[in-house]
Amino acid sequence: MWKNWSGYVECPRTPVLMPGSGAELATALADAGRDGRPVRMVGAGHSFSPLVASDGVIVSLDKLQGIIDIDAATRVARVHAGTRLYALGGALAERGLAMENLGDINVQSIAGATSTGTHGTGLGFGNLATQIAALKFVTADGREVVASPGENPELFAGGRIALGSLGVLTEVSLRLVPAFRLRLERGRMDLEDCLAQADALVAANRQFEFYWLPHTETVLTKKWNTTDAPVDKSGVGRWVSDVLLENIAFGLLCGVGKAVPSLCPPLSRFCASLVSASEQVDASWSMLSTVRQVRFNEMEWSVPAERGADALREIKALISMRTFPLMFPLEVRWVRGDDLWLSPNHGRDSVHISVHQYCGMPFEAYFDAVQAICLNHGGRPHWGKVHSLKASQLARLYPRWDDFLALREKMDPKGLFLTPYLRGLFGV
Ligand SMILES: Cc1cc2nc3c(=O)[nH]c(=O)nc-3n(C[C@H](O)[C@H](O)[C@H](O)COP(=O)(O)OP(=O)(O)OC[C@H]3O[C@@H](n4cnc5c(N)ncnc54)[C@H](O)[C@@H]3O)c2cc1C
Repeated sequence: MWKNWSGYVECPRTPVLMPGSGAELATALADAGRDGRPVRMVGAGHSFSPLVASDGVIVSLDKLQGIIDIDAATRVARVHAGTRLYALGGALAERGLAMENLGDINVQSIAGATSTGTHGTGLGFGNLATQIAALKFVTADGREVVASPGENPELFAGGRIALGSLGVLTEVSLRLVPAFRLRLERGRMDLEDCLAQADALVAANRQFEFYWLPHTETVLTKKWNTTDAPVDKSGVGRWVSDVLLENIAFGLLCGVGKAVPSLCPPLSRFCASLVSASEQVDASWSMLSTVRQVRFNEMEWSVPAERGADALREIKALISMRTFPLMFPLEVRWVRGDDLWLSPNHGRDSVHISVHQYCGMPFEAYFDAVQAICLNHGGRPHWGKVHSLKASQLARLYPRWDDFLALREKMDPKGLFLTPYLRGLFGV
């Protein structure tokens, strides 16, 4: 049975096919097309929205992983689309190269991460799809199509974030930078101080983000800057903050909060009392990623950068007025604007606000209320996370929406990659 990471989306009877070559992939698509079974691709299954769910066929490229080649002069690596980010990070480091930015975890596949607009933080950086130099798709009718700025430029503009609706990505070429080391500084601030200083903190650091602990005035700040300092060898400090506090202890407290929801506010205040300063140095691909063992469901909104603080204040007011049983911190990040047709960052620098709920606890009323606030601030949802928008609402948020719909129709006229969820998104 296929399930997503949080366990909220499951397909009990859908076969998961793992082609080991382009020919096997083309056969799988032809078979599904002949039988009228919708095909969805899966990477690491880390999306919270039902993008992968299908009662037809799920195709995984887990057998097609690794670097194909690297052009040393242009620093562009061609990688198999199923390659996991953690494997890529290590392999690139051995060649003195790195991705310029990453998200909060590194277990996603490169195709899955880029297809939903996965991002990290830092106004100097776009989402991961903006690092793409070229793509190779296998289309519904088995053709290989390459997209780059010079070859099928419309497909390049529309295809870097396409939710697996245009074809199967088999290769992704990435623009890289020389390998670098990062110092991560964790700190503690008062929420209003942090909001007042946020623009300066974003400008002064390579990367900055913060987590606000609900029912408190406390935020945990994270700043990353490049350094030549040596890597921390012992790893003890990092294990204490990343594994012991953020996973083992936090997971136990979430279990208590789930059993006795009225304890969530005091438990969140207890977590806030543990927030303290620390520092670590490591290779960029390791230092940007965290371990997430406590399972949750998540919603995330990209709002215009100048609306981020007000949107967060309204969410804070909402939480204080209602009795949502919450103890998961809200995460706030910054992402540079871009010109990708379905990018939540299209045309504007953005602040991203993420809200979470522990697995097995109700999230619908909380997420609906946050969605209403963020929509009011011009927000666009993260494609890989929970939201309830349909085509008519999405069309108003994306200036190139109609161009994308036309591209989708051209690439997949028979709707091989469309499920009821995707049909709802695109209004097909
Ligand atoms: C613990 C956790 C932490 C996260 N942290 C972040 C974060 O820091 N920043 C952020 O932005 N997001 C984050 N996410 C969301 C996550 O990055 C996205 O949902 C991402 O799409 C998941 O990648 P995946 O490989 O699991 O793809 P999947 O969820 O398996 O698939 C995502 C989409 O990609 C498509 N796809 C997959 N493979 C292919 C292919 N070969 N060809 C065409 N389409 C394909 C799928 O059909 C689907 O539409 C997080 C999620 C979790 C669970």
